[in-house]
Amino acid sequence: LTILGIESSCDDTAAAVLRGHAGSADVMSSVVMGQTALHANFGGVVPEIAARAHAEKLDLCVVQALDKAGVGLEDIDAVAVTAGPGLIGGVVSGVMCAKGIALARDLPLYGVNHLAGHALTPRLTHGVAFPYLMLLVSGGHCQFLIVSGPDEFKRLGGTIDDAPGEAFDKVARLIALPQPGGPAIEACAFNGDASRFKLPRPLLDRAGCDMSFSGLKTAVLRQRDSLLVEAKLKSQDQADLAAGFQAAVVDVLSEKTRRAMAIYTPLTSTPAICVAGGVASNMAIRSAIQSIAAEFGAAFIAPPLALCTDNAAMIAYAALEQMGTRNPDGMALSARPRWPLDQTAPAMLGSGK
Ligand code: ATP
Ligand code: FE
Repeated sequence: LTILGIESSCDDTAAAVLRGHAGSADVMSSVVMGQTALHANFGGVVPEIAARAHAEKLDLCVVQALDKAGVGLEDIDAVAVTAGPGLIGGVVSGVMCAKGIALARDLPLYGVNHLAGHALTPRLTHGVAFPYLMLLVSGGHCQFLIVSGPDEFKRLGGTIDDAPGEAFDKVARLIALPQPGGPAIEACAFNGDASRFKLPRPLLDRAGCDMSFSGLKTAVLRQRDSLLVEAKLKSQDQADLAAGFQAAVVDVLSEKTRRAMAIYTPLTSTPAICVAGGVASNMAIRSAIQSIAAEFGAAFIAPPLALCTDNAAMIAYAALEQMGTRNPDGMALSARPRWPLDQTAPAMLGSGK
């Protein structure tokens, strides 16, 4: 089966062609057109600008994905598209584009949950067996999921405020490091003393797997202000703040990962923890999770970064996984700004099919 995937829920316009089936699929092409430059002056993604850029680029993106895969629309057997959650203007653009193609070629159309795409990626890249534990840590998300099937996700907990990537980006701004903040803080922290500033480990005293990162950011702000006697932070102060912040994030994620593993590992004799999202490329975070995996005798799996950050291959693959257990959505598919994963229901809102 050859399937076309489309993703446009945030600030990446993406299309991909996959061939295969659940458990074994080849990524024939995966095109991602970023919009970073368009949003650079606004300190974040501007929804209206993002939606317009998606609408402008989607057709070109699809054509490029088909070209790179060496196929034409006549070779496509099904279309998959992100139907939420995300910035609604972008999601609508993608859904409309996918509907147009499906209608023109009379193809089955599948609406896919963006988070299901991320969560099923380790099946595409490593063929991991269900159930596995997934830690999704990105600019927009942070959650622990037990993935037991193509449409079976149990959320054990997640952030109650900022996502870690968002916190890395905001803290980088506070201490005058460039964007994206994650890589900048990681590099800067290398020369820092993590113990110099006392920073909180939010929610560690609370049972369960929920996390919080916004208080940590405020704590960095306070420490920074106490140092700003002159107009500029010294580079050692920057490094110590970066190291202290990163160590706090590592501690929070580590403790919550241990708790999630304690819930998950009794469910299987072949435990595996998978990470995804841009923040999972942080080496301090990655090695901490890796050693926790070892503590629990679990495999540690990190898909290549290009498939961990937003892309359309994961959307096409999720549809391949799900088509065995549900019907296509067809023209009744609607775009959803919010769509919690563990409420995934095959019938779309307003679906008549
Ligand atoms: P989502 O996919 O959840 O909608 P997103 O597209 O913003 O969100 P990603 O592209 O997965 O998220 O990741 C980007 C985020 O990852 C940014 O916030 C960035 O600062 C962070 N990041 C990237 N590299 C690192 C790193 N080495 N350390 C920490 N954070 C990092
Ligand atoms: Fe994403």
